[in-house]
Amino acid sequence: MTTTPFGLSTVLGYPRIGPDRELKRALESYWAGRIDAAALHRVGAQLRAGVWRDLRRTGVDAIPSNTFSFYDHMLDAAVAVGAVPDRFRRLGLGELDTYFAMARGTVGEPALELTKWFATNYHYLVPEIGPDTVFVARPGKPAAEFAEGRELGMTTRPVLVGPATFLLLSKAAAGAPEGFRPFDRLDDLVTVYGELLAKLADAGVVWVQLDEPAYTADRTAAEVDALRAAYTRLGALQQRPRLFVASYFGELGDALPALLATPVEAVGIDLVAGPGNVARLAGCGPIPGRTIVAGLVDGHNIWRTDLRAAVARAAVLTGIADDVVVSTSCSLLHVPVDLDDEPGLDQQLRARLAFARQKAGEVVQLGRALRDGVAVLPEPPGAPPAQWRDDEVRSRLAQLPATSRGAYPDRAKAQQERLGLPPLPTTTIGSFPQTGRLRQARAALRAGTLDAAGYAERMRSEIAEVIALQERLGLDVLVHGEPERNDMVQYFGEQLVGFAATTRGWVQSYGSRCVRPPIIYGDVSRPEPMTVGWATYAQSLTNRPVKGMLTGPVTILAWSFVRTDQPLADTANQVALALRDEAADLEAAGIGIIQVDEPALRELLPLRRAGQRAYLDWAVAAFRIATGGVADDTQIHTHLCYSEFGEVLPAIDALDADVTSIEASRSKLEILTDLRTAGYARGIGPGVYDIHSPRVPQQSEITGALRHAAAAVPADRLWVNPDCGLKTRGYPEVEEALARLVAAAVEVRAELS
Ligand code: GLN
Ligand code: ZN
Repeated sequence: MTTTPFGLSTVLGYPRIGPDRELKRALESYWAGRIDAAALHRVGAQLRAGVWRDLRRTGVDAIPSNTFSFYDHMLDAAVAVGAVPDRFRRLGLGELDTYFAMARGTVGEPALELTKWFATNYHYLVPEIGPDTVFVARPGKPAAEFAEGRELGMTTRPVLVGPATFLLLSKAAAGAPEGFRPFDRLDDLVTVYGELLAKLADAGVVWVQLDEPAYTADRTAAEVDALRAAYTRLGALQQRPRLFVASYFGELGDALPALLATPVEAVGIDLVAGPGNVARLAGCGPIPGRTIVAGLVDGHNIWRTDLRAAVARAAVLTGIADDVVVSTSCSLLHVPVDLDDEPGLDQQLRARLAFARQKAGEVVQLGRALRDGVAVLPEPPGAPPAQWRDDEVRSRLAQLPATSRGAYPDRAKAQQERLGLPPLPTTTIGSFPQTGRLRQARAALRAGTLDAAGYAERMRSEIAEVIALQERLGLDVLVHGEPERNDMVQYFGEQLVGFAATTRGWVQSYGSRCVRPPIIYGDVSRPEPMTVGWATYAQSLTNRPVKGMLTGPVTILAWSFVRTDQPLADTANQVALALRDEAADLEAAGIGIIQVDEPALRELLPLRRAGQRAYLDWAVAAFRIATGGVADDTQIHTHLCYSEFGEVLPAIDALDADVTSIEASRSKLEILTDLRTAGYARGIGPGVYDIHSPRVPQQSEITGALRHAAAAVPADRLWVNPDCGLKTRGYPEVEEALARLVAAAVEVRAELS
């Protein structure tokens, strides 16, 4: 067999931040005015060239382009089809600054909504589409990147978000008529995609990848028909590149035969998150002349692929399709760049890991093994070492009593007696700005120029300042500010047994923000208290209640790379048990309010309804293991971020927290309507201002939001808080915003009494 027109192996995308987070630094320098646009563009070009050369050196022969972005690929797609809302055009900024204004907001104009990219911790910007949005083909970026690749001797494959997924992930622009859906505009958008494709073909593009991951979630028959119609039209174009429609994060279901009924030359299926895709494909009968791009290497986790098993799976496909290309299950955007940057990891663990570079190597090995028939492939690592198991944790979990907490009304009464809070109590979500001084202290600790005692001293002085500031501002429930936490998951991961931390394993979360997810490889236990010292120190400085601050089990899993050798639920329960012990220690130390953050609760929700119930059951059970051990007069808070809580509302209720704070400002308090309908009847703190934007809200905006909220929630259950932690903001804006928040609460309290 000769190499196919597609190639033997590919990846659906690659990390864009650079091995050393070069993009983050360049972006932040540009935003701070330290470098100009030309310098920023130079960094972009270097990063792209670096990725392509790496992939080529590794032996990947079908190399993607346009997977780079200065902020987000959905935002890039919006720009590529001219979907820049008028409110940003009116700012009269240049192209690049308009782009960043959409991403980050400006003084006068809030950013586009930011939301989770399927079940990942990557966030995309939600395009705003109305009936009057004028779509125009702007192929500048993909065409320029393709040309750049050419200069380097590579014919790359531009990657674009497909038109159907683009619209399914967009939201209706403000002012659109009732019932309007962005998806209603699919025909118009397909016309413009046709123009984009024609222009790319003119530029010499041979293959284009159009990503349609939205079809791995439940879709209506009409949406599947529309997908078929869209690709039938695109396939019929006279002047176009070959089309590769990629899917990832699950099973395509009916969308698979729908795509195969169109003229597209290649279809990509995820065999890691969607093993059922194989049977579905087999059921489609022979598909001559088509390429199947088989996502065999997990793009969303960091474990080495069992190459022998993967080849066996791919061999089934070769019986169905003429041409099978090996790929990653999704873009490698979701894993760190290079395992070779982590020489410090335990050898037994390292032997089990693969990051983006290593995964690119795996697709190459698999592609060649498939072509050559003989699989000279390394054996998978054997059973995990015995010392990674903890029988005590397992037996404690097996014997755990059901929750001992009373009913909510009794708890609420006991808590009010203990805490004596006013109606509409004011609080924050936990973190205060992470200043340069804090980062320096952490760097000095790592470098060994500051000892543990000196570090603790600096953290204490920071906590003292944060407490004093909150007292000055007049907040009712205080926080210690989380100065000691680099990251809300990493911090716990570093202290728990069964977790490993990387030093350079950065993964993009959104824009310039990166996280370094820990790796959960073994049974989890807590050698000693993790937060009690900081919380009690903070509480010693004030008479007002200070919240103890923990990250919940689901979020810890969602933002870690988790072992795959046991069900997620088992790992979640082990983490929950460690948190339960921590909560007990906080309570014993006199902390009266404990917040267990679950901002990622929705993130892990399976895309298809069929799997959601089981997930929510274990997620809720784990949360209740973590929180169910405290007394009735200890108030349990939880915090959830980002929009679209509708489908998890019953689970939010089942968490049984006394107070739930939620993101609501970017999603315009829609959540309150849902809450009222669902009959949620405990404390609720809808975020009254958007902390993701540098813009300081007017007091009148906050009062407006509060009045709106008070219409849906009785005053004794309504809390007043920003919509998320403040760690990414600066002190001047935080002080101003919180002063307005407190003043707004006082104003609305007076109106209500
Ligand atoms: N307590 C955390 C903080 O304030 C919560 C962060 C989050 O919701 N992602 O930073
Ligand atoms: Zn949050």
